[in-house]
Amino acid sequence: TEGMDIDELAYQLAVGESEILRFLSVRGAMLDNVQTLDKDLVKMVCMEYEVEVLESDPVRVEEMAKKNEFLDVEDLDKLVARPPIVTIMGHVDHGKTTLLDYIRKSKVVASEAGGITQGIGAYQVLVPVDGNPQACVFLDTPGHEAFGAMRARGAKVTDICIIVVAADDGVRPQTNEAIAHAKAAGVPIIIAINKVDKEGANPERVMQELSQIGLMPEMWGGDTPMIQISALKGENVDELLETVMLVAELQELKANPDRNAKGTVIEACLDKAKGPLATLVVQNGTLNKGDILVCGEAFGKIRAMYDDRGSLVDQAGPSNAVQIIGLNNVPLAGDEFESVDDLDVARERANTRADAMRIERINAKAGEGKVTLSSIA
Ligand code: GDP
Ligand code: MG
Repeated sequence: TEGMDIDELAYQLAVGESEILRFLSVRGAMLDNVQTLDKDLVKMVCMEYEVEVLESDPVRVEEMAKKNEFLDVEDLDKLVARPPIVTIMGHVDHGKTTLLDYIRKSKVVASEAGGITQGIGAYQVLVPVDGNPQACVFLDTPGHEAFGAMRARGAKVTDICIIVVAADDGVRPQTNEAIAHAKAAGVPIIIAINKVDKEGANPERVMQELSQIGLMPEMWGGDTPMIQISALKGENVDELLETVMLVAELQELKANPDRNAKGTVIEACLDKAKGPLATLVVQNGTLNKGDILVCGEAFGKIRAMYDDRGSLVDQAGPSNAVQIIGLNNVPLAGDEFESVDDLDVARERANTRADAMRIERINAKAGEGKVTLSSIA
């Protein structure tokens, strides 16, 4: 593409559209009813703001940024494919844990304390694609409530949502919520119609119900993949995973492993022995043991990192999830993290953020529009 829309350019330069229009009209550019600027005008505006124009397609830059807000312009020529990050959501008892359990080929269900999923909240599995095993990361813990909470805080971790609907129960309130969350986050949905082995299972009815709420099955000419499975018996789960990898491929998920790590906290807690524990999903760059992190309002140096099997690891690349110890405090699910050069920078940024959050909380209490962040700061 040659040109660029004014609003897009304004967004990327973080200036007002009117400012750009003023700048251009002062220089005699004819802009009556013109929405799209040609390459030369884009360059002229960028020069004014001392922003370098990359010869790579600006539309592509925008597209990449939409998919991964952790990408910077400098990453663009170093991007490599990264595994998809998948969240399984759905109504309670429809078989989320059973499905994940089958996928991991371990016994999460049996070892769960009181039916609540334990673990670091993320698991990496290998899915054969044309005979080659490819990594795929599943987030378990965010479930649909945390997914909503994280989204409310602006965090976007999930690339694909599998929504499990039990064929003997159909679309239920939490199914609707899960669909709403996925749609609002712009995440592609794959439906797993589960428990097809059960007596009374009625997959057709589930498809009917889903099509009534705007999810038309692919096999009926729509664009939502719906796979009939039995998570308990493992029936068709391979097909489900292949569909996940297919949808992922269309998304062209990428990151630059060769830079400092950035990403999102998916869960955190205080461990009596180890101190604050946080599970991080790396969304760009590579995380190393010993890295210094700002993590929401917390900061610290990574003393140890564990993978999804509890093994110590030294590195975690794009889309990997690791549990870390070494933070001074327990961050929140949905907090962003970034590795920085030294501890002073980390401390200062964490403190700045803590102050900002405090003011935000005061503002929230003070009522609408009375005290603004800028009027205090
Ligand atoms: P979650 O609340 O969505 O995590 O649901 P669970 O995975 O804990 O499953 C709830 C119940 O449904 C358990 O008793 C499972 O054994 C059962 N279940 C899950 N998947 C299937 C399936 O494909 N077929 C049958 N017959 N039962 C299933
Ligand atoms: Mg469960």
